Amino acid sequence: KELTDINALCDECLRLSYHGLRAKDKTFNAGFETKFDEQLPKINVLPQEVGRVILNLCNNAFYATNAKKQTAGSDYKPVVTIETSSRPDKSIEIKVKDNGAGIPASVIDKIFQPFFTTKPTGQGTGLGLSMSYDIITNAHQGSLQVQSQENTGTTFIITLPNTNS
Ligand code: ADP
Ligand code: MG
Repeated sequence: KELTDINALCDECLRLSYHGLRAKDKTFNAGFETKFDEQLPKINVLPQEVGRVILNLCNNAFYATNAKKQTAGSDYKPVVTIETSSRPDKSIEIKVKDNGAGIPASVIDKIFQPFFTTKPTGQGTGLGLSMSYDIITNAHQGSLQVQSQENTGTTFIITLPNTNS
């Protein structure tokens, strides 16, 4: 693990996700925003692993905004937001929010299971969230939670403890 600037990592992953999706599909478009706690302490993490988690959450979030575009009116403005904050106990919270399609209550209990996907064959492996859960909880003793409302959007919340090792 190494002392990592989580804001910089989030910024990099959000851009990488956006430009990656744009490169694959020229018609893809969405807004993205960051709301960073500028006082966020650096914390010890595996930067590549946490980066994979953030990238995956961003890819899912942009995908969900694209899915919503199919049914939403022309005034729909897709946007993905990453927010960081620190808690009094010096742990860090990262929120990845989208105003996309949301997750139906009937499937929300399954999304962290390996191979669970609602995407068409070839578009999703269903491994992103199970891998993310493993990285955050087992490799970092953090937590990964989800809040979602169908047709309104989804927020994934990562917490990471501020440890010295
Ligand atoms: P994949 O992206 O390959 O489908 P994931 O493990 O990343 O696999 O996600 C599993 C499923 O969880 C997705 O297929 C989708 O149904 C749901 N999901 C994940 N993130 C979101 C999101 N931001 N908005 C709506 N649904 C989501
Ligand atoms: Mg995914």
